Amino acid sequence: MVSWDVVLGLVLLAFALPFILLSAKIRVTRYRTLSVQQESKYLRLMLRDLENHVRHDQELFLEALGVPFILLRPSGRVEMANKKAMELVGLESALQVNLLRVMPECDLRAFFQQVCASTESIHAVVTAGEGENHRIYRAKATLLDNRKRHFGIVFLDVTEEHRTQVIRRDFVANASHELRTPLTLIMGYLDALIDEPEVAEDAAIRQRSLGIMKRHADRMTRLISDMLMLARVDSPDSGYLNREDFDLNRLAEDVQLRLQPMIDEQKATVKMDIQSQPFMMTGDSFYWSQVIFNLIENSLKNNPSPGLQVNVKATREADASCTIQVEDNGIGISEEALPYIFNRFYRADASGKVKGTGLGLAIVKNAVEAHGGSICAESRPGKRTVFRIHLPA
Ligand code: ADP
Repeated sequence: MVSWDVVLGLVLLAFALPFILLSAKIRVTRYRTLSVQQESKYLRLMLRDLENHVRHDQELFLEALGVPFILLRPSGRVEMANKKAMELVGLESALQVNLLRVMPECDLRAFFQQVCASTESIHAVVTAGEGENHRIYRAKATLLDNRKRHFGIVFLDVTEEHRTQVIRRDFVANASHELRTPLTLIMGYLDALIDEPEVAEDAAIRQRSLGIMKRHADRMTRLISDMLMLARVDSPDSGYLNREDFDLNRLAEDVQLRLQPMIDEQKATVKMDIQSQPFMMTGDSFYWSQVIFNLIENSLKNNPSPGLQVNVKATREADASCTIQVEDNGIGISEEALPYIFNRFYRADASGKVKGTGLGLAIVKNAVEAHGGSICAESRPGKRTVFRIHLPA
């Protein structure tokens, strides 16, 4: 016989069972929800970590590019940029900045404007900065295939390339001009000697014409040898420069010997004050003797009056760097001419009385720079003119 208690218990259990099961299910669900929450929190943290990593790598990559890079929206807003690009546009942080709104009118802004209006990739030469900071860039804006019409813009600094091109172009123009002048004169005298019998038959006129032709042919020879020397020293990597050890004392004595007739003729004094004996240097001794020769010869030829004093001084510092200077007490160089004296074909003396090609100091500067050094000039006309060469250790 089943007791009523048991029946009652079973009935109660039948009613309570769903609730018991439900509460167990709720507990399980709550537990699962909690673990899902924890998991999603963990995933969020991982995602943030991953994003940080990607951003960091992206920044590293952008900086490693080594050239200004900007990712630009068509509105002009910056989506991404590296430090070099921020320097270029003159902003501390260009991110999310609209360049078309913040940048003043300039070549660079005009370029960004052109990019934003474009529906295809663009190449352009853009200038930025002023004075000493003036730079020339070749800019390439590539339309990205990301459906947002973003442009990836890179800037390549071509200032040096441009400068070299301008120097080469000017050099060719100047060289042709300098060579054409004596050549035209020689041709004129030759035509007269060939076509005009009275010129050819008169011994005195003929002699004078030949003398003038010889002088101009000499000038052309000097110009060509100076141009060749400059071309060689202009590209030190082309293997023209020797590397040898030599004593500056001996080299300076040789130069002085070559110039002695001029020194005597002008009643000038050249004093050598070289710190040590020997004063060993490494480099191309041919070019170093050309440097010392040109500097002393310049002092002499620009100061033909008697009594000129030229001092050649060389000192070596404790850090093994050395200074070589050539100083004179002649007429000097005016303040206006001083910035240009190292330019090719520049001659401060326009009268043409002083012989020269205008290449002497350009050769000196290039030869010094090809050896890793630098040269500067100071002048107090009538008192003291100094050319100072500095060679790092
Ligand atoms: P060049 O080959 O004609 O001598 P350089 O390039 O050597 O030309 O020199 C350029 C100009 O600098 C010269 O025309 C000259 O007027 C000036 N100069 C150079 N050295 C001196 C100096 N020691 N004293 C006065 N003028 C100088």
